[in-house]
This record gives sequence, C-alpha cells and structure tokens, in this order.
Amino acid sequence: MKEYYKFRKRLETLPVECPVCGRQTDSLKSYTLPDITFLFIATQYGSEQHIACAECMRKAILQNAAISIVKTNLLWPIFVFPRLSVNLTRTFVKGHSEVIIDELQFKIQQEWK
Ligand SMILES: [Zn+2]
Repeated sequence: MKEYYKFRKRLETLPVECPVCGRQTDSLKSYTLPDITFLFIATQYGSEQHIACAECMRKAILQNAAISIVKTNLLWPIFVFPRLSVNLTRTFVKGHSEVIIDELQFKIQQEWK
C-alpha cells in the first residue's frame, strides 16, 4: 500500500503535454467551467470540462469570467464569481488535478499489463 502512495505521489508532478499550448507541464488542471445564460425569462445552465496547464487554465477562467458577465448579468456575483475564484486559486497549486493523476495511473497500469 505504501508503494501505491509513492507511485501516486510521483504521478502528481510527472511532466505531461498541455493540450492547449503543447508545452510540458507538471500542473495539468481539469476543471468544470460554468456556462450559464440568464435572460430573466429563460435560464440555461450548462458546464464544460476544460483540461489545460495552469497558465492556459488561468486564461480560460478569466475568459469564461468575462463572457459570463454578459451572459449571466445579475446572477454573476452569486453563481459564477465564487466558482471561478476558487478554480483560479487552485491553478496556483503545483501538481496535476486528481482526475489527471487517475488517468495517468490508468494509462501506466495498462502499459504494464
Ligand atoms: Zn498550456
């Protein structure tokens, strides 16, 4: 079991390629960014999975925030801002997202078989 945690720990910062900019990164992030449209009479709620290195992710989050201000107007401070600010803060933490580590682990285990 101890070996398993050591293995996971090593995967946390294993360099992988960012699907957005193509650079090697030790912090590939996978977040769900909100896609909400609020038009007073109709509301559409959706979200989009986004995978990118920390730097590209920050750009995507800020872009999403800017577009969301227009699309969600009054709801922005309640629904969008808290989520985006948490995600933005998380991009400054070194290491891949948990989902990315799971995926790396799966891939490596498939190769060993
Ligand atoms: Zn990138």
